[in-house]
Amino acid sequence: MKKCPYCAEEIQDDAIKCKHCGSNLAASHWPGKKLYRSRSDRKLAGICGGLGDYLNCDPTLIRVAWVIGAFLSAGVAVLAYLALIFIVPNEDEIVPRPRPVSV
Ligand SMILES: [Zn+2]
Repeated sequence: MKKCPYCAEEIQDDAIKCKHCGSNLAASHWPGKKLYRSRSDRKLAGICGGLGDYLNCDPTLIRVAWVIGAFLSAGVAVLAYLALIFIVPNEDEIVPRPRPVSV
């Protein structure tokens, strides 16, 4: 069991919607977890490696699913992959580091 971040009632661990207040929990399912392009598990641009880490599953499975999806969707999945390369930051780009303070 975990607690709803909105109303603090006990809910199922895999709940995507709070049964008490009706809040959508999907976005906060993995608090603090960010989608990134993996540096360590990278075949093309690290999208699948990062997704695998984000979703807690094998990146190879995601690659296989993506390739199958590319055929089934007549290339839409390939375009989606290209879009994600630009949208999703690299693993080392989301690591917090000191920013220069502008005065
Ligand atoms: Zn709730």
